[in-house]
Amino acid sequence: MKNNEFKTFFQPKIFSQDKKVQFEALVRWFHPEKGMIPPDKFIPVAETSFLIHKITEMVLRDSLEAAKLLNTRISVNISSIVFEDESFVRDIRNVLLEYESRNLITLEITERAAMKHSFSTLKKMKKLINLGVEFSIDDFGTGYSSLSYLEKFPISELKIDRSFINNLETNKINPLIINFSVKIGELAGFKVIAEGVETKEQIEKLLTLGCYNFQGYYFDKAQPLDLILKDYSQDKYLNKMDLSF
Ligand code: C2E
Ligand code: CA
Ligand code: CA
Repeated sequence: MKNNEFKTFFQPKIFSQDKKVQFEALVRWFHPEKGMIPPDKFIPVAETSFLIHKITEMVLRDSLEAAKLLNTRISVNISSIVFEDESFVRDIRNVLLEYESRNLITLEITERAAMKHSFSTLKKMKKLINLGVEFSIDDFGTGYSSLSYLEKFPISELKIDRSFINNLETNKINPLIINFSVKIGELAGFKVIAEGVETKEQIEKLLTLGCYNFQGYYFDKAQPLDLILKDYSQDKYLNKMDLSF
C-alpha cells in the first residue's frame, strides 16, 4: 500500500435495454518482482488484517473519481469481513460525503454476507441507500439456498455467477436457473446481469432467456481508467451488441 502497488481497474457492465454502461472496480497488485498479482491471491490474505479496509477505501475513492469522469455508476466489491464490521456504514459514509455527488456507487456483496446477520444487514443497507448507494448481489446462485432474502432486502441488482454462463450451451439446468433469476428480478424489481460473458453465442442464448444485461470479456476485460478514457463512449460497448442481432 505504501509503495502504491495496488491499482484499481474497471470492467464495463452493459445494460442493453436501458442503453447504459456502468463499470465494476477490480483491484490488482503490481508487485515489483512478481508482476501482476490477481485479487483472488491477495484479498483472502488482506482479509486477515486491517489491510482489507485500506484496500476497500482506496478502491472506493478511485471509483468515485472514475464515476465522475465517466458520468456513470461504479460497482465496488465489499468483502463479507468489511460488510460485517461495525464501522462499515460509517467508513463508507465518510468517504461518500467527501465527494459531493450522489448516486455514483453500487456495492456488490455476496449472498452469504447479506444473510449472515439479516436484521443488521437491512439496517446497514437502508442507511447507505439514503446516501444514494445501491446494492448488488454478487455470484448469485453459488452461496445460499434460501431465496427469501431477495424480497427482504432492498436490492437493485443480481449478478448471475459466471459458472452458470460458461457452460450454457451444453448444460440443461443452467438455462432454467437464468430464466428463473430473470423472472424473480422482474417481479421484485431489480436488474439481472450475467457475469463472464465471452461469446456471441452466449449473448444470443441469454437474450432468448430474457437476460439483457452483460459483463464479460466479450465486451472488455478490466482496464485502467486512463486507457478507458482514451476513446470512451457508451456506444463503443453498446455497439458490440449489434454485430449480428
Ligand atoms: P468477482 O467480483 O466475481 O469479479 C469478476 C471476476 O471475473 C474478475 O476477476 C473479472 O476480471 C473476471 N471476469 C470478468 N469477465 C470475465 C470473463 O468473461 N471470463 C472470465 N473467465 N473471467 C471474467 P478478478 O478481477 O481477478 O477478481 C476476482 C475476484 O476478486 C472478484 O470476483 C472479487 O470477488 C475479488 N475482488 C476484486 N477486486 C476486489 C476489491 O476491490 N475488493 C474486494 N473485497 N474483492 C475484490
Ligand atoms: Ca463483483
Ligand atoms: Ca461475481
